[in-house]
Amino acid sequence: MLNRRKFLHLSALAAPLLAARRSFANSFDATVTPIVVSTWDSGMAVNAEAWKILSAGGRSLDAVEAGARQIEDTINCCVGLGGYPDRDGIVTLDSCIMDEHANCGAVAGIERIKHPVSVARKVMEMTPHVILVGNGAQQFAVENGFPLESRELSEDAKKAYANWLKKNEYKPVINIENQKEHGPFAPNFFEDGTANHDTMGLVAMDKRNDLSGAVTTSGMAFKVHGRVGDSPIIGAGLFVDNEVGAATSSGVGEEVIRICGTHLVVEFMRQGYAPEMACMKAVERIVKRDKAKAKTLQVGFLALNKKGQYGAYAIQKGFVFSVKSEKENIVHESKYLI
Ligand code: ASP
Repeated sequence: MLNRRKFLHLSALAAPLLAARRSFANSFDATVTPIVVSTWDSGMAVNAEAWKILSAGGRSLDAVEAGARQIEDTINCCVGLGGYPDRDGIVTLDSCIMDEHANCGAVAGIERIKHPVSVARKVMEMTPHVILVGNGAQQFAVENGFPLESRELSEDAKKAYANWLKKNEYKPVINIENQKEHGPFAPNFFEDGTANHDTMGLVAMDKRNDLSGAVTTSGMAFKVHGRVGDSPIIGAGLFVDNEVGAATSSGVGEEVIRICGTHLVVEFMRQGYAPEMACMKAVERIVKRDKAKAKTLQVGFLALNKKGQYGAYAIQKGFVFSVKSEKENIVHESKYLI
């Protein structure tokens, strides 16, 4: 798979093409359905999986779960058990799912479970609750037949963690102080070009025009053990309103949580903004609060409305997203503010 640095290089070469397609991205008049959009270039494979269900007339909820499971099955820096661990060397996963009836479920900080998105769906369908965390989430998963996997890090994660330990002179307490001084996760890329965030968020509309979404992530790499980002928080990492549209996010979760990011994007769409504009206004909200800090971090929003129009916007250059419909199967470069 392309890593993000390589991809960005390639996308620079392909910029004129992307720009042309981007201007097409918000110009649909007729409703485009079914359609699935997902964060990053890794979304191409995710969309392909979701598309199998959407193109066969299946439900968007099943499609987004299948898409998320695809990437949970692969080795990726930032999703699934192959993802980078927290600063204690433990992989903890966050995920959520939401359907067209505002049913939703989530797990946060779950360990040793391969498919957190499916556990999130079980939380949604089998409990009166929305979020289960940590040991409780794992216990619920095991009770529902999810096997407990090994704690062992993937080879990629082992290397990245060893590297991080060296460079960051692992001292837990001081690290928190450093985070206060320098911004929690700046810069978003390590010197060797690896990313420390690449959450998978996807939203889809099926042939019945029903919307659903899912998010799955190992969260910010080398986070404090127990930290939960935006990804499993309904209204932050994911929001679906079947009357209006759906949105998801990637980037520094704390900033997304502070503005209830995806809920805000959907509310802007309710006010009549096209998806890209709605995402831009949410990005502006983050940047306005602390412009200097915003320069040190990345957040990207991705939205889909009831007409099948989609759009994205990020704080910085580099956010890309994948789209699959009958008309398109492509990675788009997001516009950005700074
Ligand atoms: N939003 C995720 C988090 O804060 C990180 C990411 O997008 O990869 O946990």
